[in-house]
Amino acid sequence: MSKAIAIFWFRRDLRFQDNVGLFAALESSLPVLPIFIFDPEILDKLPKKDPRVSFIYDQLQRMRSQLQEDYGSSLAIYHGRPKDIFHKLVQEHEVKHVYTNRDYEPYALNRDNEIKGFLTENNINFSTYKDQVIFEKDEIVKSDGDPYLVYTPYKNKWLFKFNNDEHLQPSASEDSLKNFMQHSRLPNLSLSDIGFEVSTVKIPDYTLTSNLISKYEDTRNYPAIKNGTSRLGPHLRFGTVSIRSIVKKAISSENEVFMSELIWREFFMQILWHYPNTVTDAFKPKYDRIEWRNNEKEFEKWKKGETGYALIDAGMRQLNATGYMHNRVRMLVASFLCKHLLIDWRWGEAYFAEKLLDYEMSSNVGNWQWAAGSGVDAAPYFRIFNPMTQADKFDKEGKYTEKWVPNIADPSYPDKMVDHKEARERCLRVYKSALS
Ligand code: FAD
Repeated sequence: MSKAIAIFWFRRDLRFQDNVGLFAALESSLPVLPIFIFDPEILDKLPKKDPRVSFIYDQLQRMRSQLQEDYGSSLAIYHGRPKDIFHKLVQEHEVKHVYTNRDYEPYALNRDNEIKGFLTENNINFSTYKDQVIFEKDEIVKSDGDPYLVYTPYKNKWLFKFNNDEHLQPSASEDSLKNFMQHSRLPNLSLSDIGFEVSTVKIPDYTLTSNLISKYEDTRNYPAIKNGTSRLGPHLRFGTVSIRSIVKKAISSENEVFMSELIWREFFMQILWHYPNTVTDAFKPKYDRIEWRNNEKEFEKWKKGETGYALIDAGMRQLNATGYMHNRVRMLVASFLCKHLLIDWRWGEAYFAEKLLDYEMSSNVGNWQWAAGSGVDAAPYFRIFNPMTQADKFDKEGKYTEKWVPNIADPSYPDKMVDHKEARERCLRVYKSALS
């Protein structure tokens, strides 16, 4: 057996810079074996050309090459159940300590508990770190210890507790890469080894200039404006950028609205952590009494962007073509599905989960439940967006719609699948009878 080592397990933190758990591992006195595990439990549910898998794969290969070229080390890439991989690793190496950054999704929490149990049985330490958020779990709660269910007081407490020096201190992980194990021939895999193909859809870089941040509230609601929002979503999701570096930029550009969006992300993360059942259950249980119509043909039309409502169709076509949809339009298509079509928010949530490059369980579930009215801090159910007046307001010149629905004037473009007024009245009737 080789000499004693530590392992750093990369998951949703695919970077060397300012990586809290990685820094802790590299500062231990042991050589560090970096690993990534493609988990079939997650992969098997995804389409074979999933662009997110390609993105993760490419990023891992870049990191692996950097370690090989500059440090004579490498990154080991595996495919299998994490527990089986750790079984193998402890047979091959004298593992003393496993380091990783925390992940708060229900599946990840169970997985990590299982791994911790296995490592403890083998006298191996397992240390986890807060990396993907400024505040986690129950760090921001009411004075009686209960979680906040309304965003504004949560945000106020967040800002009150936030301290630049304490919370934005970067971890100097990148300066310690020489402490990785010297071994350049670690296991690697090709995309096809894990059952995937290269996707033609690419995750774009994000833009975060101080100009974008300072103009954010004037641009963020208009889907036709290029670079009106940051496109940070997938980068925060996969950790190719550190949240601390982003908050630092937000603070130096002094834009409260942009900062608020980053805090919404953490708001929904703590909600998911406190209420993991909201992945499947309405946060407000009464909403599970709603008699959804769940018409499959109508769902298909919504998915394809063939509802006859131009802004809704533009959003869905943008999603299908690029894996992205502008936030304002996400709100509208979600509301349309739940309220105009009376289709269960869980159907829409699942479709977004399959398509969005920036899919994040906490934000997706939180925002879908918000749109359905069943979630925390949701708008009252009787507020129903009118897709036509929303288009007049947010896509006045029709540029966004024109880009994604060029056939709008063709006879081939479908008629409106429901009448707005009738659908609105139907929704009010159905919701009211469930909630009364
Ligand atoms: P920017 O406007 O530049 O915002 C910067 C960052 O702030 C985002 O990247 C994101 O991390 C965070 N943020 C912004 N708005 C929200 C919000 N409402 N809730 C939580 N975080 C926010 N966002 C996801 O990251 N993953 C999802 O799966 C997701 N699903 C959504 C589903 C619905 C129905 C709706 C209405 C919104 C959803 N959002 C989701 C929130 C939001 O639409 C995206 O975060 C945003 O559009 C991503 O684009 P951007 O990176 O340019 O955002």
